[in-house]
Formats: sequence, C-alpha cells, structure tokens
Amino acid sequence: MLQIKFLDLAKQQKTIEKHLRFNLDKVLSESKFIMGPEVKKLEGSLAEYTKASYCISCSSGTDALTLSLLALDIGIGDIVFCPSFTFPATAESILMVGATPVFVDVGKNTYNICYKNLLNAIEKCKKEKLRIKAIMPVDLYGLPANYNKINAIAKSFNLHVIADGAQSFGGIFRKNKVGNLTEITTTSFFPAKPLGCYGDGGAIFTGSLDIKEKLESLRAHGKGKGKYDINYMGMNARLDTIQAAVLLSKLEIFDWEIKERNRIAKIYSNELKSSFHIPEIPKDSVSAWAQYTIQSSKRDKVMSFLKDKNIPVMIYYPKPMHQQPAYKGFLLNKDLSKSSELSNNVFSIPIHPYLTDLEVEYIIENLKKANNLFL
Ligand SMILES: *Cc1c(COP(=O)(O)O)cnc(C)c1O
Repeated sequence: MLQIKFLDLAKQQKTIEKHLRFNLDKVLSESKFIMGPEVKKLEGSLAEYTKASYCISCSSGTDALTLSLLALDIGIGDIVFCPSFTFPATAESILMVGATPVFVDVGKNTYNICYKNLLNAIEKCKKEKLRIKAIMPVDLYGLPANYNKINAIAKSFNLHVIADGAQSFGGIFRKNKVGNLTEITTTSFFPAKPLGCYGDGGAIFTGSLDIKEKLESLRAHGKGKGKYDINYMGMNARLDTIQAAVLLSKLEIFDWEIKERNRIAKIYSNELKSSFHIPEIPKDSVSAWAQYTIQSSKRDKVMSFLKDKNIPVMIYYPKPMHQQPAYKGFLLNKDLSKSSELSNNVFSIPIHPYLTDLEVEYIIENLKKANNLFL
C-alpha cells in the first residue's frame, strides 16, 4: 500500500538543497541575524514577483494582519468585516487591536466571502451607527477573492481593505498576482503555506509609500529616525534573516510548484466532479492551491476509509468563527448558515507538488471507492 504524505517538505528540501545550504552558510558567516541583507533582498524579490510597489516582511501571517490594522489606526470601537469560515488568526488580529469583528458568510463553491452577505452586514452596522472601518477578505485555500467586487464595495462605503492572503501567495485574479490586488495584502510563510519558511514568517504588500513606512516602523517597536525615538505603539515583528534566506531558495522553484499544484488540481477536479462537490475556480483566476477541499455529507466515513488506505486528510476548519467560544460575543450578523454547513462537510486531500502520478491516481481511486461505499 502506498503511504501518502499530506505535505512533503523533505522532498522539497532535496530539490533546493544546494542553493539552500549556500544561502544558510552565507547567513552564518555574515552573522547578521536581524534585518540582514537577505531580508531586503527577499522584500525586493517578492515585490517584483507580485508587482506590488512595496513588500514589508514580518514575523508571521498573524502579525502581518495585526501590523496592517495598526498601520490604518484601526482600534477600539472600529468594525472590521471578515469571513466566519477562516483560520482563527483573521478574527484574532482584529480583536488584538481592540476592534470588533463582524462575521460574514462565505460562498459554498468558492469558500470566499459572500458579497451579498457582506453588503447586508454593512447596511446593518450603518443602521446601528457603528464605526465601520475595513473589510478583511480571506483567499481561502489559495483562491483569490473577487477583488473587483471587494474594492468597489470598499470604495462605496469608504472602507479600507486588508486582504488575508495567508493561503493564496502565488494566486492570480484577472492577470494580477495576489499582493497587487487591493490596498493592503498580507501573507504567511508558515511551513505548510504555498510559500513556507522553516519557522514563522510573513509579509505585507501595499502600493502606498505612507503605509509602507509606517509598517517598517511598527514592526520594530514603532521606531522613528533614531532607534529610541518611538513614534507609534509598535511590536517586535521582524522576519529573521535565516528565514529570508530559506525563502529566497524556495522562491527559485515556486512558480514550478504552483504549476504542479494546478496540474494536480485539474486532474482531481476532472476525476472527482461526478462524486464530490469540488472547488469552483473562476475562469480568470489561478488558485495557489494551499488546499484542495471537497465536500461530503458522509465526511467522517469517507475520511476514515481514506486514513485506512494511508491517505492523510484534514479538516479546515471544523468550527466557524461565530461558534468559537472566545469570539461568541461578536455576533452582529447572524446569517452565517453556509459557514456552519461547510464546517460540517469539508475535508482536504493532499495536493503538494511532490505527489507522484501514481499517488494522485491512488487518491482518486480510493475517493471514488469511498463514495460508492457510503452513497
Ligand atoms: C495561516 C493563516 C494565518 C496566520 O498565519 P501565521 O503565519 O500562522 O501567523 C492567517 N490567516 C489565514 C487564513 C491562514 O491560513
């Protein structure tokens, strides 16, 4: 029986080993572990890759969100809209700055924020004379949200946009890459993300020089011209030089990896569409395929069948944010049925670029078997 890996960082490491060791040796001999030359180099490479004007690296995807909220002066009494069906860090960052999240439902096919539900939530907050400040859409599983719609809604209600692109780095919406689709985009370099480092890391992309300068200050305690002139209430949230060196090596093969993920996703979608609810990718979008997620009302049975066949599967996410005990107090919008439903039905199958054709076939074959067994 095959033994499939959900993620294969070891194979990836073999692929980049020479480049990686060279880069790491360089960091060791330079010994500039904080804000060494690799950090600037990475920021330049990522800005070039996304065509965003500026890239500001930082310590994690969560800190990228928090720093962005701080940069926009969002805090106590301010409302930020975000999907309920997401990773907890999205809502957590809003709460960390003292602002109030208003959860919005998602679409059942794209898993991204539902625009109608968002408009309803905005209208509701306006009626109650709440101070609405920003939309924080999430590009779930790697698919960029529809930023034409989001930017238009933001403009008409005078809202900021902070895109949580933790899962979508490398994704494309209408010829533009994630990072260059809206006012501010954040991403994560957690090892399991499409572009991951060997620890925690993150980055923020923006077209605004003012925001860029403020973010560079905020990630280093809010410092001004001198290290001990503190202009803002900031954080210690820089990216380690070592992580930047790792990312520079991984960036060398990143386009190939995204292509492979897309090639496998296409095979999955063709083969599984008659048995499962498959993800919908709009014609003009490219997903970074952080996850390939399908839906089944018999999820538990299908998952245990697959596990018996050495096929690892995961649930992202088993509980929507509006049902989390810690976030229960924030329920201005209660129309969140899709988020609840998806949490009960979704599961993700392996989609890393190092799957062999044989492994992909094996996964498909067993999914079909499971579907027939538990009809
Ligand atoms: C992973 C993730 C984050 C947080 O990133 P970290 O680097 O782990 O802090 C935020 N939002 C989403 C949607 C994520 O998937």
